[in-house]
Amino acid sequence: MRIWLDGSLRNAEDARVSVFDHGLTVGDGVFETVKADHGRAFALTRHLERLATSARGLGLPAPDLDEVRRGCEAVLDANPMPLGRLRITYTGGESPLGSDRGDAGATLVVALSATTRRPDTTAAVTVPWTRNERGALAGLKTTSYGENVVALARAREQGATEALFANTVGALCEGTGSNVFVVLDGELHTPPLASGCLAGITRALTVSWAGAKETDLPLDVLERAEEIFLTSTLRDVQAVTRIDGRQLSDGPGPVTAAAMRIFDEQSAAEIDPR
Ligand code: PLP
Repeated sequence: MRIWLDGSLRNAEDARVSVFDHGLTVGDGVFETVKADHGRAFALTRHLERLATSARGLGLPAPDLDEVRRGCEAVLDANPMPLGRLRITYTGGESPLGSDRGDAGATLVVALSATTRRPDTTAAVTVPWTRNERGALAGLKTTSYGENVVALARAREQGATEALFANTVGALCEGTGSNVFVVLDGELHTPPLASGCLAGITRALTVSWAGAKETDLPLDVLERAEEIFLTSTLRDVQAVTRIDGRQLSDGPGPVTAAAMRIFDEQSAAEIDPR
């Protein structure tokens, strides 16, 4: 596997990042996961813009987006595969233990792993922990993913593949790695960005293509929703057919199926044109 580290392609086993990298010691980093279909990245420009936004929010030096793009293209070319997951990681760089972030710059890693298409349906659960919509990291895609790891483990214990959070005022927010949509009285809704959810790229495309409304929703809408689906880079649009043990349906409901279809039809235009 060839990866990109700070300006050049290297063999993954030879690539070294300092043990004093702030990304490792204090989780001071941001990242993106980008889908790649036969070596072509999906929505790469949107991902690069969000990487820059997250870096700004965390006070990291601005990433050189031309270099990040070059790194993505080089890694894709060096590791051909049908369906890949590009991972861009950008951290605060090396600084001595216990010190503030130095001015050593930043660390940029682009890696790729093979993946498979996610199933069309899944089960999800709610978890008792909250997303802090007023927190300093709200809406940023940082490497501080510990809360998501804990919540996802709780979901897996219950036979589900995603855990859904409410925010501090009890409104539906998002999953550990996905945004959530619900159908209520036949209408499609998703929580607004002010709920504290990540500005998901799949979410934004689904809002515009499937015409979802951005609505503050109490968590208990999940008890009466006719349909629920998740969106994310690796899931695309994925129907939730069981929520907290309640079976909604055997397969995607009509609104979800329509959103899946529109997403598949419109996606081609988002593939990186290079
Ligand atoms: N919310 C969180 C917390 C995520 O980590 C992700 C993706 O990883 C998403 C939502 C979905 O975002 P996207 O559609 O850009 O993959």
